[in-house]
Amino acid sequence: MGSMDFDLDLNALNEEISKLRNNNRSEKSELVLKVNKNNMKEKLRLLPNQHKPSMPFYQVAYHYNIKNFGIMCPKENFGEECPICDFREKLRAGAQTDEERKALKPFFPTIRYYAPVLSRTDNTKAKFWEMSKTVYEEVINKLIKFPELIHPIKGHDLLVEYVPPTGGKKWGKIEVETDMKESKLSEDIEDAKTIIKDVKDLMEILKKEMPNTEQIQGYLDEFFKEDEDNDNSEGASEVKTEVKKEVKAEKVVETKKETVDTDESNIDEEIDNLFG
Ligand SMILES: [Zn+2]
Repeated sequence: MGSMDFDLDLNALNEEISKLRNNNRSEKSELVLKVNKNNMKEKLRLLPNQHKPSMPFYQVAYHYNIKNFGIMCPKENFGEECPICDFREKLRAGAQTDEERKALKPFFPTIRYYAPVLSRTDNTKAKFWEMSKTVYEEVINKLIKFPELIHPIKGHDLLVEYVPPTGGKKWGKIEVETDMKESKLSEDIEDAKTIIKDVKDLMEILKKEMPNTEQIQGYLDEFFKEDEDNDNSEGASEVKTEVKKEVKAEKVVETKKETVDTDESNIDEEIDNLFG
């Protein structure tokens, strides 16, 4: 009977666990909420945004079609260098025909829209609801007609539902209704203030998780490498190869820069005023 002493360092093991956790869970994936076939119904309360009081929503530009996830565009979002946009613009300058110009569509960014919300399912933590342009427009229109919608005491929740496709259609749709019943963000005012104060600046979080220039260049190189491997046609230009790939081009949306109006010093006062 011998006792073995492995000299395990519990601190090191614990550190390892927290490292694994941090790598696997991005802050974005914890904060972004989608209504789709995997999460068909939500009751959401729009939240004021201390980082952008006059326009609480975010527009974020992603390059789809290159990887099986959206790559944040450094150029559209932050005015920084983007290898995908640079590549596209270089080809665009030399494009002769409409066909060639059309083939560049998959390399334009697509915009996704986000609103700070409280999900009535968990009712504790501010999240960001990711929307398409159509749904975003609908939400804005509701707010224009009824600005009190977002009020922490006199406001209303939104009932959001994913309706699966019918009659051979490919995509389902999202229906947004305003709950007829007025409701408080929370019964407890302090609680409501905490929820609002916990709304993070989405762009700050996304920027931390955005791939750097080398990584994006790498994605682009991989994309064309896979393309070459699967394509045996002779002398096809990169652009023509692209057409053959039948990449599902997301609708190209004109993107705009937004100015962010933040005055951190007045946040507490602003939040208090919301309840006045
Ligand atoms: Zn870009």
